[in-house]
Amino acid sequence: MSTAPLPESNDASESSEAADPHDVPGAAEAEASPGEGLTPDENGSAPSSVIAQFDQYVIPNYGRFPVTLVRGSGSHVWDEQGNEYLDLFPGWGCNLLGHCPPEVVQAVQQQVEQLIHVPNTWYTEAQGQWAAALSQRSFGGQAFFCNSGAEANEAAIKLARLHTPEERYKIITFEGGFHGRTLATTTATAQPKYHAGLGPLMAGFNYVPFGDLDAVAAAIDETTAAILVEPVQGEGGVRIPPEGFLAGLRALADEHEALLIFDEVQTGCGRTGHWFGYQHFGVTPDIITLAKSLCGGIAGGAMLTTAEIAGSLRPGMHASTFGGNPIAAVAGIAVLQTIEEQNLLQRVTALEQLFRERLEQLQHKCEHVSEVRTLGLMIGVELTHPAGHFVQACMERGLLINCTQETVIRLLPAMTLSDELAHQGCDILCDVIGASS
Ligand code: PMP
Repeated sequence: MSTAPLPESNDASESSEAADPHDVPGAAEAEASPGEGLTPDENGSAPSSVIAQFDQYVIPNYGRFPVTLVRGSGSHVWDEQGNEYLDLFPGWGCNLLGHCPPEVVQAVQQQVEQLIHVPNTWYTEAQGQWAAALSQRSFGGQAFFCNSGAEANEAAIKLARLHTPEERYKIITFEGGFHGRTLATTTATAQPKYHAGLGPLMAGFNYVPFGDLDAVAAAIDETTAAILVEPVQGEGGVRIPPEGFLAGLRALADEHEALLIFDEVQTGCGRTGHWFGYQHFGVTPDIITLAKSLCGGIAGGAMLTTAEIAGSLRPGMHASTFGGNPIAAVAGIAVLQTIEEQNLLQRVTALEQLFRERLEQLQHKCEHVSEVRTLGLMIGVELTHPAGHFVQACMERGLLINCTQETVIRLLPAMTLSDELAHQGCDILCDVIGASS
């Protein structure tokens, strides 16, 4: 198949990473404007009027592929030229049930005709049901709803400071982590490249190496309010913590009367084969934060915590105008129901196995594949050299993947992916990576 031409001025690794709407390493420092290099090819197929409009009216803070997507269904998307792509990175992890899952579409369609939005000064049936459904699948607490991962983490950081005594304000976070783009969550994100030019950052964050309990033990003290960690680092390159690390964090938090917050924005809602990532590790945090796949592609975020801790979020201390709105709520309920009705948690485990086998075979054949890391449908393939150009090469063959941290190919496929499409994707990926050895 043919795809729209990529701009020559866009370095492959830059374009692969710069396609991220929010969290792409390198996007912030990408210097080329999105339209740069987008001259029409001989067939006149690019740039489209859509891209021209972006060039004029949309702030160029994202690097974008020169492709306008117009439709999606399951694990496929189509561009305005009618090219079809197999999407193994649908919606940057948001489309866990694929593009336009019918159950979510139907729930939203019904809801928009009934009630689109009311503020949180009123009760709505859907928000209560959604909170109950999340509580029953996690540790039995209460929910605060918002619209994004950054907002969920903001809520958790504020709650940790509110719940603990006043002298406790510090939050320990981990190198390679990612927690969002607001000022507090950018500060919580211990990657210097996201901090450049933003100072002074928020006070009260300590950074320690991921997986290093001794470093946490050295950093934690009587001023620490919480430890904030992703159970598996997503943007950091699908980094799975060493055995006992999360349990060690639980013990340290307990010993020092600090809270343990798991950022489950990427690991949550079934992505790993359990409802929540923490359920893999036998460690229950005090707070979890959710977004991305929570509403099957509709914007939505949540913070879950115990009723006791939740009591510290007094009326007036925190709010979100659109948080828990009826559209997000019915979409969120539909996601949970669909996962259950279609036994998709089990399906994750089967798909993980399939990807592992295929990618480990690739590793045996290609010396520059150094490691394959998976937890459910969080899949990372570590290469010994920069891997961004593979994103472009795969795209030219109709496959969408991601590269993070320069050397890690990342897949976050939909739970609804068929074996046949999973193999098709692996065939292309293995061809492309294998051909370079
Ligand atoms: N936490 C994690 C673990 C994430 O992966 C992300 C987004 N990639 C965020 C927080 C921020 O989410 P959002 O872009 O919805 O604010």
